[in-house]
Amino acid sequence: MLITMKNILQVAEAKQCALGAFNTPNLECVIAVLSTAEKLNLPVIIQFAEVHEDLIPLKIMGPIMVALAEKSTVPVCVHLDHGTALAYLSEALKMGFTSVMYDGSGLEYHDNVANTCMAVEMASRCGASVEAEIGAIGREEGSSLGDKAGNHVGNVTGESCYTDPDQARDFVTRTKIDALACSFGTVHGIYVTKPSLDFLRLSEIRTKVNIPLVMHGGSGICADDYRECISRGIRKINYYTYMSRNGGNYVKEKCASKGSEDVYFHDVVKWGIDAMARDIMSAMKVFSGLPHGVDNVTKE
Ligand SMILES: [Zn+2]
Repeated sequence: MLITMKNILQVAEAKQCALGAFNTPNLECVIAVLSTAEKLNLPVIIQFAEVHEDLIPLKIMGPIMVALAEKSTVPVCVHLDHGTALAYLSEALKMGFTSVMYDGSGLEYHDNVANTCMAVEMASRCGASVEAEIGAIGREEGSSLGDKAGNHVGNVTGESCYTDPDQARDFVTRTKIDALACSFGTVHGIYVTKPSLDFLRLSEIRTKVNIPLVMHGGSGICADDYRECISRGIRKINYYTYMSRNGGNYVKEKCASKGSEDVYFHDVVKWGIDAMARDIMSAMKVFSGLPHGVDNVTKE
């Protein structure tokens, strides 16, 4: 069944846990995420990022996500990730998305506030929720290792990019958003070196804003760090890169094991779904605090 971000994160807040928010730029990802959430009987967020337009357009993927979420036996929030144009947010809302992220983190602060207020007004007309961001999370969503120019870049974005707790309070008060994406040391894509997270900053932000916090660049973190972040107020963890890589690498292994035999595409799809579902299950167990979550979610 469909649920808004605001309502699904209230569940996480009540249970003092986090929910996984998985990018689904293909049908296989949607199936892997929803089937795993149903197996564990956990609410879940599926999301489509604007940067994935080149893999598949929102106008094709969005209605598929909404239709499968409606049919699911668990509460599912269908969310737009990192929308930078209000018209794009509007497109998602018209399709039935129950939440949108407006990302004005690249703008001057007052422009980010003004546009985020417009996003909140637009979403509220559709009964949907809004996530927004201040501070800059390392690397663009959808990247693997390089920056836009293909240069290899490290993890750290620098102190100046981190979310300022006082500004976070001002931003949330002015915009009335439902969830805040904050920057405290995570990056999108693959971690080149072990991430160093600023837990104190996270706690300080949480004491100054009374809404759920969102971790971007959430795959590739060790289980203890996830738990630490959750204890300090993270309620939504964006997770994609490592699940997709595990799916891809498993397909690679299976193809190699076939030697000179033919490989059928329907098998490739199934191998990908199965491998991603295994990774998603480990992640969901850690985020929700269920026993038997593996020590390192992204075990390679
Ligand atoms: Zn992100």
